[in-house]
Amino acid sequence: MAPRPPRFDAAADEVARTAAAAQDWAALAAAATPCVACPELAATRQHVVVGDPPARGRARFALIGEAPGANEDDTGRPFVGKSGQLLDQLLREAGLDRAEAAVLNIVKCRPPGNRTPRTPEVARCSGWLRRQLELLDPPVVVALGLSSATWFLGPRTVLAEARGRPHDVGGRAVWATYHPSAAIRFGPAGAPRAGLLADLTSVAASLR
Ligand code: SF4
Repeated sequence: MAPRPPRFDAAADEVARTAAAAQDWAALAAAATPCVACPELAATRQHVVVGDPPARGRARFALIGEAPGANEDDTGRPFVGKSGQLLDQLLREAGLDRAEAAVLNIVKCRPPGNRTPRTPEVARCSGWLRRQLELLDPPVVVALGLSSATWFLGPRTVLAEARGRPHDVGGRAVWATYHPSAAIRFGPAGAPRAGLLADLTSVAASLR
């Protein structure tokens, strides 16, 4: 489901080995926090944003975005800036409870200037995410934005075609939808906001 690291990428192999050895969330967070597998990101980030496990109980679903932004890099927490505030609002409107969700990103360090993460960075960080999914085992995943959607569904994914229905990926129901930053960019009357809310509402119905 996720991009496999190129064979020659020793850093990706090392991340995957270290992540696989973590026996629980706390061990994985402790191992990921000092990660320097991506030199440019490690030199410019403030925090490795490992992600949030559910605040309550086991993960009923996971929300997975692309990478931390400036607010997330400052605080070390995922989805706490404007995108996170809109996501929280749309989750409430859809009838979903963030406390029951794992909140993660494909890449754990903020790319400079919020550029798109590069393929080797995604490949290296995939070891952490794969292990997070094994440990938390959410039955449902909401892939927010194209980077996250392609991580699960493959590089040829077209978001507009993939969204609106679950995809079986290794026994999990993966819903691909818009990233809240697209909903902000296109405004309150734009298609991404309506599409994101519609998809979250479908996810909520699937969990009942
Ligand atoms: S993006 Fe991921 S793999 Fe790269 S340095 Fe940060 S935590 Fe490590």
